Amino acid sequence: MFEKKEIAKKSVDFAQWYNDVVLKAELADYSPVKGCMVIRPYGYGIWENVQKYLDRMIKKAGVENAYFPLFIPQSFLKREKEHVEGFAPELAVVTIGGGEKLVEPLVVRPTSETMMYEMYSKWIHSWRDLPLLINQWCNVVRWEKRTYLFLRTTEFLWQEGHTVHATHEESYAEVLRALSMYQEFVEKYLAIPVIKGVKSSNEKFAGAEKTTAIEALMPDGKALQAGTSHDLGQNFSKVFKISFQNKEGKEEFGWQVSWGMSTRIIGGLIMMHGDDQGLVMPPMIAPIQVVIIPIDCKNEKLLEYAKSIVEELENENIRVKVDTRTEQTVGYKFNQWELRGVPIRVEIGLKEMEANELTIVRRDTGAKLKIKNEKLKISIKNLLDEIQQNLFDKAKRFLEENTRVVDSYDEFKEIMKTKKGFIKAFWCEGAECEKKIKEETKATTRVLPLDEAAVNGSCIYCGKEAKYRWIFGQAY
Ligand SMILES: [Zn+2]
Repeated sequence: MFEKKEIAKKSVDFAQWYNDVVLKAELADYSPVKGCMVIRPYGYGIWENVQKYLDRMIKKAGVENAYFPLFIPQSFLKREKEHVEGFAPELAVVTIGGGEKLVEPLVVRPTSETMMYEMYSKWIHSWRDLPLLINQWCNVVRWEKRTYLFLRTTEFLWQEGHTVHATHEESYAEVLRALSMYQEFVEKYLAIPVIKGVKSSNEKFAGAEKTTAIEALMPDGKALQAGTSHDLGQNFSKVFKISFQNKEGKEEFGWQVSWGMSTRIIGGLIMMHGDDQGLVMPPMIAPIQVVIIPIDCKNEKLLEYAKSIVEELENENIRVKVDTRTEQTVGYKFNQWELRGVPIRVEIGLKEMEANELTIVRRDTGAKLKIKNEKLKISIKNLLDEIQQNLFDKAKRFLEENTRVVDSYDEFKEIMKTKKGFIKAFWCEGAECEKKIKEETKATTRVLPLDEAAVNGSCIYCGKEAKYRWIFGQAY
């Protein structure tokens, strides 16, 4: 039985609040296997919506879905030196299959570059085979010692897009296209504003020439990398022999890109909008957008009425649920749907039915209003849009208020010790300064914003010449 007081306050103990909400809103649970998580139906419903809407955007760009195997021969990973070094510490390796020791161990995919590119080398021969645009929705395994539900787990779900192009100009355009797609998706559907930028070479993907990412700022002042798009150059095509005959009949290596977004984004969604009462779901991604609660579930007439409202809203493609459980009190139901963050609650009682009225409660503001039944569809639709916009605006304000331009290292340290957030500071792009800053403040370079203009400045740490203000923050 759930009781609301069991949830920690978001403003008091953020980490505890997060865990309480994930468990009590029944999004996910701990698995008997350390590091793994079980995604429960309500949490999976969010992921299904992520898949649905992001998949549409992926396909609109001409990218097709396919599926590649879970097991990768260990030797494949070793072909690209940086790639294997980057992933070696977190690999799960299968050495026995069918009761027999395997001749070559198999790696459980931590990401699918190597498996996919082995196949691509068979499929690509001529410039006519390009661009090759493939995405896969799957699970990957990266060994974790500590579980942080949705944010850090040994196995997680994601999509990985892998494309091959004839020129670097084309492949880099794809890097940016995927990054913009992620920004649009996260801002529009999840109501989370992000910053697009380039990662430092220390923070880039193992095997990439360059990594770009979208970064979001969470309410506790920490940064969340919400999606990445990598310029792989010809690093993999050279070792996997992905070559093609160009229009002049000359053999060339392909230019490659990979991009991914995972269930981690659900962690960001929970943190970004939730409050002391629990989750607050942006309507566009919410598994249930409207919950209808008849005040008396034993009254047949009222139930009929509730059903007619459900039908009316479903015809408008609104995701709606009516809670007709008789074993729970109305108060319990209010609390439970509030905890689960359903954007709109509709209460209907006998008196209201007779007066042709409905009581509506907004989850984001708690505001209560009465509407006329004949205006139901339009009122609900408008309200869902309004809630979505309100959540985005609030998050955007938070991001702006907590992104600070800093020129003194003392101030930098003080901010990271207290309110955190994003810091825009000059950095010489030297690995040593980056490392020292991380050791002393926990802040890492998040990204260099794509639209950041080059100016003359001096590195916040060493004072040497610096061209750009990078975004720093403490990462999840
Ligand atoms: Zn420096």
